[in-house]
Amino acid sequence: MASMLDCKKIQEGLSEYIDGVQTVEQSEATQAHLRSCAVCTKIAEELTQTSRLLAFLPRPELSESFELKLTTRLAGQALRPKPITLTEKLAAWWVRPGVRPALASGLAVATLVPVVVFFPRAVRPTVVATPAVEAVAENAEVEQAMQEHLSAKAGEVFGDSSGLLLASTPAGRETGS
Ligand SMILES: [Zn+2]
Repeated sequence: MASMLDCKKIQEGLSEYIDGVQTVEQSEATQAHLRSCAVCTKIAEELTQTSRLLAFLPRPELSESFELKLTTRLAGQALRPKPITLTEKLAAWWVRPGVRPALASGLAVATLVPVVVFFPRAVRPTVVATPAVEAVAENAEVEQAMQEHLSAKAGEVFGDSSGLLLASTPAGRETGS
């Protein structure tokens, strides 16, 4: 008398038994069980018929161009750039390194522009106080002094009237009176 546990175990291996892939021991155990169990014998017969029907079905044949079409389509999908929305573009731009500092300084400039335009006197002292501007101012003063000195010298040497006038006014007054 076969138990329910035996039936379960036999039914799990029936497909392998019908396909002939069970070991000799498994196959003999299955045969012994089937001789004494009408339920498993019935299931085995149905499985055998199904297996024969499946064997008669024609295998689906792929056209010769199918593989080429599939490969091309897959490659196209892999290479096609992913469509991106405006929001995603902004998000990607925002997380890019350097964007946020640049934007921050841009905002700072945008804030300073009205201050410079509407309050130039408030801003000018800070601008003049920079060393570069001071250096330029010093150079300009030096250059102007040099120009004055040279024109005065030229007036002395060549008798230039303007240089002579400027240089000798006190002396002229002394000699003239
Ligand atoms: Zn059974």
